[in-house]
Parts: sequence; C-alpha cells; structure tokens
Amino acid sequence: MEGRILITGAAGFIGFHLARRLLADGWVVSAIDNLNDYYDPGLKRDRLAQLEGHPAFQFQPLDLADRGGMRTLFAGPHFDVVVNLAAQAGVRHSLKAPHSYVDSNVVGFLNVLEGCRAQGVDHLLFASSSSVYGANNRLPYSVHDPVDHPVSLYAATKRAGELMAHSYAHLYGIPSTGLRFFTVYGPWGRPDMAYFSFTQKILAGQPIPVFNHGQMQRDYTYIDDIIEGVARLIPHAPEAQDIWPEDPASSAAPFCIQNIGNHTPVALTDFIHILEECLGKSAQIEWLPMQDGDVVATYADVTELQQSVGFAPDTPLRAGLQRFVTWYRQYYG
Ligand code: NAD
Repeated sequence: MEGRILITGAAGFIGFHLARRLLADGWVVSAIDNLNDYYDPGLKRDRLAQLEGHPAFQFQPLDLADRGGMRTLFAGPHFDVVVNLAAQAGVRHSLKAPHSYVDSNVVGFLNVLEGCRAQGVDHLLFASSSSVYGANNRLPYSVHDPVDHPVSLYAATKRAGELMAHSYAHLYGIPSTGLRFFTVYGPWGRPDMAYFSFTQKILAGQPIPVFNHGQMQRDYTYIDDIIEGVARLIPHAPEAQDIWPEDPASSAAPFCIQNIGNHTPVALTDFIHILEECLGKSAQIEWLPMQDGDVVATYADVTELQQSVGFAPDTPLRAGLQRFVTWYRQYYG
C-alpha cells in the first residue's frame, strides 16, 4: 500500500523514523510539527534535515491546536492515511505544565479528528501510550484490560484521545487504530527520557537519579520494532463489526487498540548495568523515592499485534542500546 500520508510530529523521535521508513516504502509524506522547545529544538531540526532532501517529503511548521491552520491543511490534497504522533509527551513534565498536555493531546487531537472527518481518510493511526494502564493493572498489560486509573495527566490525555477517536470512528466511520507504545528508545531518541539522560550523565561523570530506589521495570522497545509494527498496521484499517446483525444501530465502530512493546520487562538496575557495559563506564547513582505519576512496571501483551500483522517487537535490549550508544557518540562526538 502507498499513497499520500500525513505524519504529525514528524520532527519528533518516532515521527522522524516513521517518515524515513515510509519514504523508502514509496509513500508521499506530508509532515507537520510545531518544533517546540520541550527538548533541544536543534535535534528536531537535524532530524528534519535528514528528510528534507527527499522529493516526496513536504514539511510545514504547524501547531495541532491552531484550528484555522489545521482546517487549511485538511482543505488541501487528500490524505489516504493520517498518523498522529504529535503530542506533549513525558509523564513527569505533565505535573509541571498541565495545560500544554490538554492543548496538544486533547484540543489539538480534536483538530486532527475533525480533519480526518472532513477528508474521509482511509485510516487514522494515533499514538497512545502504555501509561494508560495506570497503576492498578495486572501484568502483562492486555488491550482488554480496564484502563480507568490514570496516574498522571499525560496518561489521562492519552486515554482521552483513545475515547475521542473511538467516538469519531463510531459517529463518522473513520477507521482508527490507537497505538500504545512502550518505552521507546534508540538512535535520534528523546533527551528527556532516562536512557538518554543517563548516557549524558554517565559520560559526564555526573550522578544519575534513580527513582523508587531502582525497584522499577520497563518494557524497553527498540525504535525499529515500533516502526515495523506501525508500518504493518497502516494497511490493516479496522472494520466495523455487527454486534447484533438484525439491529443496524448495534454495529461496533471500526476502531482498535494495539500494544506495541517488547514483552520483556527489564529491572531498572539491570538496565543500568547493560548501559554501563555499552558505555564502558560505571554510573554514580543517586537513589531517590518513587515519583508522583510513575508506575512500578510496564509489560506489553502483544497477542493482538501478533495475530493482526504477524509481528511483535523482539530486539534484545543490549543490542538496541549498543546501537543507541554508537549513534550518540557519533552525533555528540
Ligand atoms: P517527541 O516529543 O520526540 O515527538 C513529538 C513531536 O510532536 C515533537 O517534535 C514536537 O515538537 C511535536 N509537537 C508537540 N506538540 C505539538 C503540537 N501541538 N502541534 C504540532 N507538533 C507538536 O516524542 P516521541 O517519543 O516521538 O513520541 C511520539 C508519540 O508517541 C507521542 O504522541 C508520545 O506521547 C507517544 N509515545 C511515545 C513513547 C516513547 O517512549 N517515546 C511512549 C509512549 C507513547
């Protein structure tokens, strides 16, 4: 499948990698991003610079929350597929800057949904997050688990996005897939995430802050596996399903949720040891208590992903971290 695709947040970590992959697959990629300074905008510009020479790539600086600008965007050429990755990300920051989360992840996402409705796109895929599972779920996290205990505003806005998309899928028949990503890491990654800032600090000989005294587990997922999962899901638009065929009002919306995670949780202390080995340098650790908004463990059940597209992430953490460290040394050389 190929055609014209809109990627929001294309200067971001996952958006950049997805744009690069889809250009190679033959898509015409339209891209937007507001290039905000939540983390180093220079890194975002450097990612975009890798894409901008490609003849099938078009970039426009635009904020999702700019209703007029979004309307104009969707009044232009038709998008076969939309992938919404633009968001205010980060669990801890949502305690400090709550409004930016609602502006981008709720109000901005509504503008994406309205655009998809106006255009009648074939498939909307949108980034959700493992954080929607909150603190009270059994492990591994299944897409069938209840998700009504968000423990951060970030998680609440991501869950709100899922519910909004579900309602638009039901009302307007927009086939939609929510992507619950699990702790994504790799080259061109996000400096606000622990693996990145730990690398900076260990190399600089500074202590790394380790919360909950290291009693945490994360399902670290390598970027190429995330991209493979998303690329395979693009042609798999969900279909509406009859619940009771005799009652036309009973059809279920063309909507589904997928976990994309490595289904191999790793203890934070083990993660630090592997990173130390990749860097060839020991960490100084500052042990700290649990932070508000955090969950103790994440672990993806990927049964549905495997059944839908015959793929699940499987890059071992050591191999993925080694590739990140190699990129890091080249980039910051
Ligand atoms: P990122 O911050 O690198 O990318 C997001 C991009 O969106 C940034 O370039 C930013 O400038 C842009 N953006 C933010 N608000 C915007 C707005 N209002 N209008 C236009 N552009 C805006 O983050 P990422 O790691 O690439 O994450 C992509 C998506 O995946 C996000 O929705 C995030 O919540 C989700 N997610 C990421 C992870 C992870 O571990 N990286 C895990 C779960 C979910």
